[in-house]
Amino acid sequence: MEEKTGKAAKLIWLTLASVFSISLILLVSAVVFSIAAVFQASEKLENISEITIPEPEKEKSSYIYSLNSLTGEYDIIYKATPYTGNVCIETDIDTLPDYVKNAFISIEDERFYEHEGIDITATSLAVAKEVLRTAGFINSGEVRGGSTITQQLVKNLTSDDEVSVDRKLREISRAVSLETHYTKEEILEKYLSVIYFGQTEDGCNMYGIEAAAAGYFGKRAAELTPAEAACLAALIQNPSVRNPLENPERNRERQLYCLRKMFEHGYISAETYEYSKKEKMNFVHPGDEPETKLSDYGNDFENPEVTSWAIDTALQEFCDFICDYKDISREEGMQEFRNGGYELYLTIDENVQAELERNMADYTFFPEDYAYYTDENGEEHAEQVQAAAVVLDYKGEIKGICGGIGPKTTSFCWNNATDARRQPGSTIKPLTTYVYGIENDLITWSDIFTDSPLPAGTAGESEWPVNYNGKYSGSKYPVWQLLAESFNTVPAQLCNMFGPENVFNFTHDKMKLDLNPETDITLAALSIGATGSGPSLLNLANSYMPFGNGGYYYKAHILKRIKDSTSSRVYVENDTRKGERVISEETAFIMRKLLRKVILQGTGKPANLQNRELSGKTGTSENYRDVLFAGLTEDYVSAVWTGYENASSSALRNVSSSEIWKNVFGNYADSVKTNASFPECETVEFLSYCAESGKIAGKKCPVGGKGFYKSGKTEKCDINHNLVKDSTH
Ligand SMILES: [Zn+2]
Repeated sequence: MEEKTGKAAKLIWLTLASVFSISLILLVSAVVFSIAAVFQASEKLENISEITIPEPEKEKSSYIYSLNSLTGEYDIIYKATPYTGNVCIETDIDTLPDYVKNAFISIEDERFYEHEGIDITATSLAVAKEVLRTAGFINSGEVRGGSTITQQLVKNLTSDDEVSVDRKLREISRAVSLETHYTKEEILEKYLSVIYFGQTEDGCNMYGIEAAAAGYFGKRAAELTPAEAACLAALIQNPSVRNPLENPERNRERQLYCLRKMFEHGYISAETYEYSKKEKMNFVHPGDEPETKLSDYGNDFENPEVTSWAIDTALQEFCDFICDYKDISREEGMQEFRNGGYELYLTIDENVQAELERNMADYTFFPEDYAYYTDENGEEHAEQVQAAAVVLDYKGEIKGICGGIGPKTTSFCWNNATDARRQPGSTIKPLTTYVYGIENDLITWSDIFTDSPLPAGTAGESEWPVNYNGKYSGSKYPVWQLLAESFNTVPAQLCNMFGPENVFNFTHDKMKLDLNPETDITLAALSIGATGSGPSLLNLANSYMPFGNGGYYYKAHILKRIKDSTSSRVYVENDTRKGERVISEETAFIMRKLLRKVILQGTGKPANLQNRELSGKTGTSENYRDVLFAGLTEDYVSAVWTGYENASSSALRNVSSSEIWKNVFGNYADSVKTNASFPECETVEFLSYCAESGKIAGKKCPVGGKGFYKSGKTEKCDINHNLVKDSTH
């Protein structure tokens, strides 16, 4: 018996001794660590800025506004709600039942109301466990950090994620600081407003208990049951592992633990505890229409199901600006729009826009033909004809834009007016050799040239080019007629005479046509528009603008202004921008009158209008992939493209771009009742020219017609007509 008793006593003593020594080790480690921590903390304290709870951020939605022609006011047409994919909702702690708050306190920080930012007991235990884990006595498992709610809030507010002793010390110091400046309720409120609650099934990140209540249960946080509150409290420890939708068992486990803790602390009654354990969780799934929807928050404006061409173009232009301004990527630019709080004011005239959209959806205006092409995998595709239209005023404001045929079915889609780079065909001619020649007094309205190709060896091995009909006549024509009937031969001669590089530089720098120096300093590009890639339709229309406004370039834009939505700051003010003089008033006037001849006597006849003085030019690219028309009326400069995105086809051989333009926009332009007029030019004279020499007609000359000439730059025909220019050499 004695021996037995002795053995038992020894066992008890040994056990006690071991417990004591382990406790001692723990205590010593904790104390040593704490001393070290405090010592280091005091050293670093002066470098640590005190943390404050930030004010709830002002809503940083961005808006797009368009002028309503009836009211004369700007209406919102698009609103970008911030935090797309991230919903962060402030909570009002006074609305929350106690058991909702206590669910979090029970399992995240049970001494929340007692400590002053850090929980010494919990921290020491965590440190001791960490020491034992490092020494190999216990498995890593779930070593909890012992972080208080205050510390977790600090971590959330600072996003200081560095894993180091330094970080832990910063966090402790900031938590203590927070506790001295804010009440427990304020800290808990902020905590429940910013903490991450995981993702909904459709990928929306939820921050704050209001977002979680709406996202998981379709209700306000005030309406949560104790079981639901425990379910949410259970998941924040690890929002993916404990997500009740993805891992219901792991969530359930901790939810039950939470309910037990709530019961043990007296936060819920035995009855509620028993009931809550059995309560079935009714989660919201995509497609459900609960009382409180996540998408209801901060969404007081309903965007159109499909964004309009104007919205698409506006966002492209915004990105162009912001990416350059902030030196960020395209994607970051879009993000900046969504979260940055901008106001975009559009230049669009809703009547013009509505007209374009209506007509672009009328398939009877466009050829029905399909064209076929083979893709890189050898598969054959049938492709329907496409189209695009742009309308600008003479200050560069986009009044209407359509990037495709038919009704728009996709938001932020490919835009044939701005994204597509197409060969301009003959629409390039006024922008290259003709305007260069007139501006530099190298040609006049009626200088005579022979319709013949460049000799073999000039632009290739054989003679080049021929005209649209595949031939050339060898006859002589005045400049206006060569342009009006869109001869290919003479522009090639002129370009060769002036020098392709000179012409290119003029067209690129003055007319601002987007040509590529790598591919487009060629006779083919500059005389007949066979460019490498080519300009966008918007850019093409923009380049015609100086012909109608006395020689000024205003960069085409759809954004009148870009403003900050929460301050008076203005980033962009396009409506006050001054135009750049790019050609003389005389050149602009003469060019417009030359383009008038295209409509009156040339390829653009079908486009002619009754009430407006239309000038314009037609164009067709190689293989009839594209047909184009650019037109100038007193009010607008516009361009319409019809063609195939991929296919080459002769389907458009008999299509009249002038007719399409007239149907899409011309008839509307004709009906507009404004007082607009083209600028007059007093230094241009309207004179008769000699049919043979092309010079200003003398008394004995056979008169060819009348044309427009710069004053003081005219040459009179001499009686012998011996000043005939013949560039065929
Ligand atoms: Zn004469």
